[in-house]
Amino acid sequence: MRPRPSWGWQDAAACRGEDLVLFFGPDGERQPEREIRERKAKEICAACPVRTDCLDYAISRPEKYGTWGGLNEDERASERRRRMRRANAA
Ligand code: SF4
Repeated sequence: MRPRPSWGWQDAAACRGEDLVLFFGPDGERQPEREIRERKAKEICAACPVRTDCLDYAISRPEKYGTWGGLNEDERASERRRRMRRANAA
C-alpha cells in the first residue's frame, strides 16, 4: 500500500484560485491551443514556491493528465523514467 500523500504543500500553491482548465485543458483541445495553454500554466509553475513538492508528488503517483510542477504529461513520463534509471544505477 502506498503511503498517504501529504497535501500540505498545496496551501502555498501558486495555482490556487486559478482555473483548473489552464492546467488540465478542455476536451477536444487542439495542439496549437494546448501549447499556448501549457505555456501559461508553466509560467505560473515557474514562480510557485512548492514546485518541487508538486512535481515529486505527481511523479510518484499515476498522475497521467495535466501540468504538475511545470511539466506536462510527456515531460513527467520522461522525468519518471530518468529518476528510475538514476535509482537503478545507484
Ligand atoms: S507547481 Fe504548478 S501545478 Fe504545482 S502547485 Fe505550483 S502552480 Fe500548481
